[in-house]
Amino acid sequence: MTETLPTREQVTLSADFPVPETMKAWVLGDPDQLQQVEKVVPMPGKAEVLIRIDAIAICATDLEIIHYGTPALIEGGPPFNKNFTPGHEYMGTVAALGTGVDEFSIGDRVTVEIHAGCGQCKRCRQGMYTSCLNYGLNYGDVDKGHRANGFTTDGGFTEYAVNNINTVIRVPDDMSDEVATLVVTAGTSMYGLTELGGLVAGESVVVAGPGPIGLLAVAVAKSLGASPVILTGTRDARLEIGKALGADHTINVGNADVVAEVKSIVGQRGVDYVVECAGTEVAINDAIHMTNRGGKICFAAFPHDPATVDLPHVVKNNIYLYGIRGEGRSATHRAMAFMAEKRFDASLVHTHTFDLDDLPEALRYARERVEDAIKVVVKSGGVEASREV
Ligand SMILES: [Zn+2]
Ligand SMILES: [Zn+2]
Repeated sequence: MTETLPTREQVTLSADFPVPETMKAWVLGDPDQLQQVEKVVPMPGKAEVLIRIDAIAICATDLEIIHYGTPALIEGGPPFNKNFTPGHEYMGTVAALGTGVDEFSIGDRVTVEIHAGCGQCKRCRQGMYTSCLNYGLNYGDVDKGHRANGFTTDGGFTEYAVNNINTVIRVPDDMSDEVATLVVTAGTSMYGLTELGGLVAGESVVVAGPGPIGLLAVAVAKSLGASPVILTGTRDARLEIGKALGADHTINVGNADVVAEVKSIVGQRGVDYVVECAGTEVAINDAIHMTNRGGKICFAAFPHDPATVDLPHVVKNNIYLYGIRGEGRSATHRAMAFMAEKRFDASLVHTHTFDLDDLPEALRYARERVEDAIKVVVKSGGVEASREV
């Protein structure tokens, strides 16, 4: 990482909130190899704040990056052996202010979204900063100021991180650190539903795949007034959590013709919207075949391989397909509004907590789904490993 960062003299610090010179940081070496090193604490620039990271959730995409490299892009290439710190679902406390920042104060509890676009390309000007045309261009002679922390710039498996103020969201006092880490996941679900239809009141939604994004898509869809909300998946325990988050119906796809079952609930014409979070070829085609004429499908999973899909059915039925790579259009702020109002209990998807020093074990829990782990949260400051019950 060769970002040029401001010096301490150029930022606002507070004696009440001392910031050390160096911090513990996990960095990615070869694939699957993380090691803890000392890094200099970065300082925020214009329109940026320094955040002391208090908690960070592990995302399936972190596991992808640590193993495959993609979708991270560091200095135009794979993220290995570049002193890169992954992790992107963090929350914490504002510890320093860059020049011109009056939107936040030192000591504010905040959570973050991932992407700060360059602010100057066509997509950024349209508000689509997660589709920034200068994606990953944040270094050397091609520094366009784009940041996607944990993807193209340093992320959160460390003690401090720099964030653009556009990516920072205040956390209510009565929200736990662990729940606050889930806002970006809920924001991704919110963005998918926003791109599909905005307010989906009274319209039918199927969510395929009860991972964190799928489970919170159920919660957000229900909060937006969708009816009915149907969750499909293979694990009954996960489907039960989906019910607690607002699913009106659940279908275990292991022993069902899922398209027929969905139609038995919503009628033979099919469902209005599908949020596809499974990413398999079968699930993608099921989504296509359960959607009604003129309906819309959001693809929110990261499949590895190209898939053969029934495109003739899509075209003949005027079905709209949307791909999303994460949160966008400030959906994370709207997701926080729902969570602050306690419209759903996001804590249901948080299952385990580890200390930052135990990150490799926390990643193993997430990867192998030990004890049916869903969201594993890592905290700094010497916390005991624990399981939510
Ligand atoms: Zn994530
Ligand atoms: Zn841009």
